[in-house]
Amino acid sequence: MGVVVQKFGGSSVKDAESVMEAARKAIRAKHAGSKVIVVVSAQGSTTDDLIAKAGQITSSPSAREMDMLLATGEQISIALTAMAIHELGERAVSFTGPQIGIVTDSTHRKARIKKIDTVRLCEALDSGHIVVLAGFQGVDELGDISTLGRGGSDTTAVAVAAAVKLAGYEVECEIYTDVDGVYTTDPRIVPDARKMDAISYDEMLEMASMGAGVMHSRSIEFAKKFDVPLMVRNAKSDAIGTWIVPEASWMSEIPACGVALAADEARLVLEGVPDRPGVSHRVFAVLADANIAVDMIAQSVGEGGKATIGFTVLNTELDRTKKILAPIVAELGAALNETGKVSKVSVVGAGMRYISGVAERMFQALAIEGVNLKMITTGDIKISVLVEEDGAAESGIIEAPTGEPIKKAHLESKKAVRGRRALRAVHAAFALPLSRKGAGEPPASGEFKPRPNPLMVAASKDREAAIARLEGMEDVLVSGVHLNTEQSRVTVHDLPDKPGNCSRVFNAVATGGILVDMIVQNQSGPAKAELSFTVPRADLTRALKRTQDVVREIDPACRVVGDGDIAVLFVLGVGMRTHTGVARTMFGALAAKGINISMINTSEVCVGVVVERARGEEALACLTEAFKLG
Ligand code: ASP
Ligand code: MG
Repeated sequence: MGVVVQKFGGSSVKDAESVMEAARKAIRAKHAGSKVIVVVSAQGSTTDDLIAKAGQITSSPSAREMDMLLATGEQISIALTAMAIHELGERAVSFTGPQIGIVTDSTHRKARIKKIDTVRLCEALDSGHIVVLAGFQGVDELGDISTLGRGGSDTTAVAVAAAVKLAGYEVECEIYTDVDGVYTTDPRIVPDARKMDAISYDEMLEMASMGAGVMHSRSIEFAKKFDVPLMVRNAKSDAIGTWIVPEASWMSEIPACGVALAADEARLVLEGVPDRPGVSHRVFAVLADANIAVDMIAQSVGEGGKATIGFTVLNTELDRTKKILAPIVAELGAALNETGKVSKVSVVGAGMRYISGVAERMFQALAIEGVNLKMITTGDIKISVLVEEDGAAESGIIEAPTGEPIKKAHLESKKAVRGRRALRAVHAAFALPLSRKGAGEPPASGEFKPRPNPLMVAASKDREAAIARLEGMEDVLVSGVHLNTEQSRVTVHDLPDKPGNCSRVFNAVATGGILVDMIVQNQSGPAKAELSFTVPRADLTRALKRTQDVVREIDPACRVVGDGDIAVLFVLGVGMRTHTGVARTMFGALAAKGINISMINTSEVCVGVVVERARGEEALACLTEAFKLG
């Protein structure tokens, strides 16, 4: 018999009526033949209210006591939900995280799950109870209550689903919230955004981290790692939501499934960094030690022995980042520049691995809008650009997609005026409002049903063994390292930093039918950008010629350089961003071997670097060892 984990967010249990509705959904699933686990968040704004209460007493509450306080929110919800189920005539039993054996580390307020004991949980299920479980909380090894970080109930739900799956059950996880599913982009900004019927874990990870905001990224990492099928759906209706599942072949039939905007990031540029082994490692190790999550990293090809490293961090981490980097910046004789407010616009889709011209289509749409690109990075299934926001609000660009005057409440949105315009343009350029597979049209039924999970092979009803497998369940999972020695690189130095220039370059390359893989663009000096991209080695000469011809028209002063002597290495996995140490391990392993990194490119599920071709194999070997994949 299968298990359904149903997670209800704060808005879906905010009052008695919502709690009764959640109880009805759980009972319906049970009557349909499933064992049911309900995971609930604190009601409505309870968590915020509790934080405010603490604030009335102290501005620096102890993290341990905060967890003691915050965990009470979920405890209210589980008791009420269990009572509601009883009231409707079904059996239910509620448990807090500590009661059910959700063991975490001791990082209060952002604890990570270490293991889940499924004994009591499975006993309750097997005896016919609906299990109602508090999200967001656990217990550390000292017996102290911990919480998983804001929005952490999603993570509880998926982690519990994974644990139950390892105990031998078939499992599905439904995330009930106040939206109908995952959209091609934020429907509040782009009114013709469509609800998707299915999206792959990787696509969702790339979308979520960029502000799609429907689910907690960590929970999607879990789902991917343990292969738990998820559905995001509306708590107020019975409509089918969006499945988040392993990648299926039909997902690659379109170049992009969605576009996303993140307006909460700040961009920093390290200029004049010595171009030698170990430098990027030192920079990112310092940040990882301080637990600062770096999102985009773009290191472009150095000139005159100096390289430029651009990267983004959350706005809220900006000051801390600058402070932490100051000593090392001084020591390297580099300069750390902060480049004002930016928005990040990304296009995501499994199909871009196989379909050429995606970058070109995106850059062209942005060029037509007159949007200037401050930084570009590419992942396996994502292209991200940074758009400058400063001055946009004053320059008369008006935000009013629906023709309504801007309301006070929308003042917030003025922050990302250019980002929003860019988002709309890119959404339209990929024809995402149209109905088609992956962007709204349901795929053939059954196609995204759970597939056999390699982890399941060894799964059994042997609970001890299952529990042992859950040890360290939140450890980062790097699934593979790949070496590609078939690529070459084209670099344009001193490209004038103006809207449309990247578009022209990629248009010239794409019309030659050349598939561009990795793209990195950074600002290299005032009003100048440095643009590098890789193409198949066989196409280098043609790509160079086409690039040279077009940049000559743009500005005869820019220089184009080709390099056939490169190797591209990718580390793929989950949790590349939330686990700040991945880049550190990767750069550290290369530094230890004295291998110089000439280009870096990151996304949520992939970190790519370029090294000298002669050292490609050696780099592959040392990364395989560093991530224990050998
Ligand atoms: N109640 C917690 C919060 O508001 C956890 C959650 O809602 O997922 O952050
Ligand atoms: Mg909440």
